[in-house]
Amino acid sequence: MRTYLFKNPDWFRWIYRTALWKVKTSQKEIYLTFDDGPSTEVTDWVINILSEYDARGTFFCVGSQILKHPDILRKLQVKGHAIGNHTLNHVNGRKCSVNSYLQEVEDTQKLLKLYNPDKLFRPPYGKINFKQFWQLREKNYQIVMWSHLSGDFDSNLNIKNSIKSLKKAPAGSILVFHDSRKGFENLQQILPVVLEQFSTLGFQFKTLRDDPVS
Ligand SMILES: [Zn+2]
Repeated sequence: MRTYLFKNPDWFRWIYRTALWKVKTSQKEIYLTFDDGPSTEVTDWVINILSEYDARGTFFCVGSQILKHPDILRKLQVKGHAIGNHTLNHVNGRKCSVNSYLQEVEDTQKLLKLYNPDKLFRPPYGKINFKQFWQLREKNYQIVMWSHLSGDFDSNLNIKNSIKSLKKAPAGSILVFHDSRKGFENLQQILPVVLEQFSTLGFQFKTLRDDPVS
């Protein structure tokens, strides 16, 4: 079985240090994020389990999915979750020109404006080049990366290792899950354990909109 990198190496974080990797906090707070939705079946399941724990999350949505499921996006908004931008077609920044990348983000932002004024952006695959990064920063996007990956999208995932790594996440950690069919089986095993663990320890699950981000 191959080993899975649950955390990015320090040098990578240093290069993109004006992105948000973790929230500075002295409170017991954890930030759950869900990429690639909205999607039928999965988003509803996530919304319901988050409600059980009075938890809020941040959903980085793909524009083409928003066009298919505007009703689900509306539901996320009504439930108090934050909604972020994840490009129109889930593009890989390394394989896309700066202009088309920006267009992908701006087109999605237009769709999101109907729901919220936040400018939270997460690059699909975590792949973005310097020019794309800085041009988005100039347009006041907060680029959100993560401190811990669940690996739920990986069909060969070692669930035990994933849970072990997530359970150790300190206050202010940003955890990544996926709101898509691909990782749903894994998500259904991992997310309930994470919610149970942190709520037992007295943590609150907050959105990335709840705290000022630099
Ligand atoms: Zn993604």
